[in-house]
Amino acid sequence: MTKLFPAIIDADWNIPWCVRTLGEEIHFTELLDEQPDGWLNSLHYYRNDLPKDNHAIYDCGAWSYRNQYTPPIDSKKAANEYNEKANSGSIVIAPDHMLIDGVDIKYRQEWNRQEAVKFLQDCPNHLTPMGVIHGITLNDRIENAENLINAGYQYVAIGGVAGLGGKMLNAVVEIVETIKKAIPTETHLHVLGLTNLRFFKEWLRIGVSSVDGSAHTIDAINGKIVYYENGVKMSYAASKTPGSEDGFLFEIPSISQAPECDCRACLTLRKFGKDTRQSGSKAKTIGRAFHNLNMYIKEINKLKKAHDDQ
Ligand SMILES: [Zn+2]
Repeated sequence: MTKLFPAIIDADWNIPWCVRTLGEEIHFTELLDEQPDGWLNSLHYYRNDLPKDNHAIYDCGAWSYRNQYTPPIDSKKAANEYNEKANSGSIVIAPDHMLIDGVDIKYRQEWNRQEAVKFLQDCPNHLTPMGVIHGITLNDRIENAENLINAGYQYVAIGGVAGLGGKMLNAVVEIVETIKKAIPTETHLHVLGLTNLRFFKEWLRIGVSSVDGSAHTIDAINGKIVYYENGVKMSYAASKTPGSEDGFLFEIPSISQAPECDCRACLTLRKFGKDTRQSGSKAKTIGRAFHNLNMYIKEINKLKKAHDDQ
């Protein structure tokens, strides 16, 4: 059954910030009705307070150095940093370089291949290495997946599909499904960065092992408060509060049409007089991100149950 690893970064909600803002120590996991299977953490946005009892996935922040010719990290450096920072039992992603427009694709492909092979040796024993499948064409990707598996990887992730996004649903699903069929059934297959509900249904059907994503936070930052009605995502606009950090003094205050919510994120924030349906402060925005995540987890748990009952 497809596991969920929501992305969480250092700035999202941490105890020192919480104490300064709310005067109380509240760990981010206390904002959730149900915990996800684990979290996606990053060496680039590293935070050290993930629960010790659930597995996490760590990446080395390929997005942050995508425009550099040579990455600032390599297999040895990544292994050392993961060793210091990742909880035992976590999955750690081999250093990779993104194949994006306008770069030396050949150089990056070769760099990815070499570092992935080295990383199998360098990865500390208490962590599980995961190789990233990159490619321009579907055949590229399949060949790359086979190379990683032949080198010894039991965990592989499909990268570079999040950028193709929702408009390319069919193309992305085809890539993932074709790779799934081309690799051994016992190989753990992760999809990087695509969690929206339409995709999640496909991942369950195909048998994708896990997925990560940050849509809950991106929606919250964009002022969206998300609900699901009959399996369909409904976004309401958060209300504007004039004179606040992200509002203007002359802006007309508005009232959000979103219904009041009693999830743990909304209840907790409301206790401190903060309405997650309003924009205007970091506490409200992050509270809204955790609200969005609560709604999402509830919805995918329904999908998983329906999948189980089939
Ligand atoms: Zn809520």
